[in-house]
Amino acid sequence: MRIKIVAGNWKMNNDISQTRTLIKKLIDGLKVESTNCGVIICPPFTSLAGANELINETNIKLGAQNMYAEEKGAFTGEISPDMLKSVGCEYVILGHSERRTIFKETDELINKKIHLALKKDLNPIFCVGETEQEREDDKTEEVIKRQVTEGLSKVSSSDMGKIIIAYEPIWAIGTGKNATPEQAQAVHLFIRDLIAQNYSQKIANDLIIQYGGSVKPDNAKELLSQRDIDGALVGGASLKADAFIGIIKAA
Ligand code: PEP
Repeated sequence: MRIKIVAGNWKMNNDISQTRTLIKKLIDGLKVESTNCGVIICPPFTSLAGANELINETNIKLGAQNMYAEEKGAFTGEISPDMLKSVGCEYVILGHSERRTIFKETDELINKKIHLALKKDLNPIFCVGETEQEREDDKTEEVIKRQVTEGLSKVSSSDMGKIIIAYEPIWAIGTGKNATPEQAQAVHLFIRDLIAQNYSQKIANDLIIQYGGSVKPDNAKELLSQRDIDGALVGGASLKADAFIGIIKAA
């Protein structure tokens, strides 16, 4: 039986004082909710150390939104996995569609980052998803297959247990237009079958596959009750304590 995991991707929002305010509200709100759902927050780099101090004695885990594909050196402005670990990160989002489209990250670069994260004992939250045009052209499965296969190229079976895959259709991110539970379930099953073919049925069965794209408290229950949807990667709604807690409760 897989557990559900809900992760909040804050993107480029919240300075350190806003971070503290939001985390305090989350901790207070989650105290009164009994939940066995995993909770991860992914604040911006500048808030990670401060966030870590506040969540230290809670069940909330810390993740970063990105990292560089090298261990250290002359890479001005970049952040290494060791730096993330030093401020308490256990997770790192890799391959988010905003990184792929705005910052031109390729499947090859994402694969390199995934290998380095695994080597450094950081758990990747590996994002995949098709554009609206690709869905209309009936290319969803082709795109997902390429992203999953190339992103996970040469990842060992033993490391697969550390990976979360997030299916995030690009047309649903930040648009208010979520995939229907049936549309999302179909792609999640497709991903699970692909992992079963590439690895084993056991690894596929154990894999956490989150859905992301306009998840809100009022659509979370239906989405997260689908058989192959094991949680959510939440953008906008993770910036409001009530909404994020509502999604965790639904999970
Ligand atoms: C995201 O960016 O990962 C995301 C899912 O955003 P939103 O929930 O705002 O659609």
